[in-house]
Amino acid sequence: MNKLYFIPGSQDLYGEECLKQVAANCKTIVDFLNEKLGDTITIELLPTVETSAVCVEDMKRVMCDDDCVGVITWMHTFSPAKMWIKGLQLLRKPLLHLHTQANEKLPYDEIDMDFMNLNQAAHGDREYGFILARLGIPHEVVAGYYTHENVISRIRQFAQVAKAIGFSKKVRVATFGNNMRDVAVTDGNRLESEIKYGWEIKYWGIGEIAKLAAEATEEEVNSKMEEYTSKYIVDTDNTEAIREQARYEVAFEKFICKNECCAFTDTFQDLFGMKQLPGIAAQNLMAKGIGFGPEGDYKIAAFSAVLMKMAEGREGATGFIEDYTYDLTPGHELELASHMLEVPASFAATQPKIQVHHLGIGNKEDPARLVFDSVTGDGIQVTLIDLGSHFRIICADIELVKVPAPMPKLPVAQIMYRHKPNFQIGTAAWCYAGGAHHSVVSTALTRADIAMFARLTGTELITIGEDTTEDDLRKFYM
Ligand code: MN
Repeated sequence: MNKLYFIPGSQDLYGEECLKQVAANCKTIVDFLNEKLGDTITIELLPTVETSAVCVEDMKRVMCDDDCVGVITWMHTFSPAKMWIKGLQLLRKPLLHLHTQANEKLPYDEIDMDFMNLNQAAHGDREYGFILARLGIPHEVVAGYYTHENVISRIRQFAQVAKAIGFSKKVRVATFGNNMRDVAVTDGNRLESEIKYGWEIKYWGIGEIAKLAAEATEEEVNSKMEEYTSKYIVDTDNTEAIREQARYEVAFEKFICKNECCAFTDTFQDLFGMKQLPGIAAQNLMAKGIGFGPEGDYKIAAFSAVLMKMAEGREGATGFIEDYTYDLTPGHELELASHMLEVPASFAATQPKIQVHHLGIGNKEDPARLVFDSVTGDGIQVTLIDLGSHFRIICADIELVKVPAPMPKLPVAQIMYRHKPNFQIGTAAWCYAGGAHHSVVSTALTRADIAMFARLTGTELITIGEDTTEDDLRKFYM
């Protein structure tokens, strides 16, 4: 279980009694937060910062603890912020500044100077806020009484984003083959990706998978087939095509496990030794939280793994998708998103069918794939692009809708959605912003989650939604 450390601030000016009370109140708060957030994160109290030396020791502990994904700080009393400089300079994990109090209401009848000295977050948190601004440290501020539901839910959101950032720093992508020839937006600076997000992008030939697939035992393939038939409806007589995909999944699983990867890419331009493009194999792995990028898209492979981690424990589906084609009926414009095969099974609203169809691209045998209709409801579409000087995240609010009519001749899983605020502004904004045709769609995450991730990783963010206007469009490329 991941954890956050809780570091309170004070100083030694107020005497031993006051500091004892500070520690006791902080324990009450931490106990309460653990009770409320225990299903998401564990919170552990560290010694109150009374001096610069304590702050440095606390932050060293934060940085050396692999289970720790972030820090919550709060100034119970006034805590002169020069004491925080050296400690904060060590901190390279997400930071939440909780602007709260031990007491909810003021005891008007009894308040005296002792009470005011003990309970002065309004004073101390401003001093502390200044030093965070002065040092330019990305952080979140959550203001409000710690038992209030809106405060708890913001801390929960921070914990989930911090876990995703901690996970991001350990992401290793196995790229089988390179970026698709001539495609621009899927490419990017792999070195900068590792410096900024921690992503290790490692190249292997797809022959590694072909070899492992050929070596898969009957028992392993049978067991994978049992998994498929227990989850999906077999809608083909071509069992051998499904067994071929089962071999691929056995091979991918072995390979990524052995090499400690959590995401992978492939490309139809390099299927040396493979009979089919991986279809079900990729779809089923994505549904297990494994990141995937087709056409060698390492960014979406890594980013989808990170966002699936962020969505862990929430209702809804999260995964890779590609923009394809539109219905431009005036006032009812919709987008049909899909891919040639690899739509994550997590989007299925109905039990997916395993079908085998011809694939005109790649020049290989007909691949087995999962075909299904998608979940509906409010969601977001998110992508990450490399602009040379920096990365940019683009996040659009969308509404996933039921397909208006069946598409019996389209042999792939489909997702349809409506753009916000409308088709004209929503899609033009995406184009102006340089948004990719590969993205992550989620009905579990919100724009606020992505915005927090962007702030805490120092990534430029462009959002598109009901509040986007015609005038906003020009800002995106200036
Ligand atoms: Mn594609």
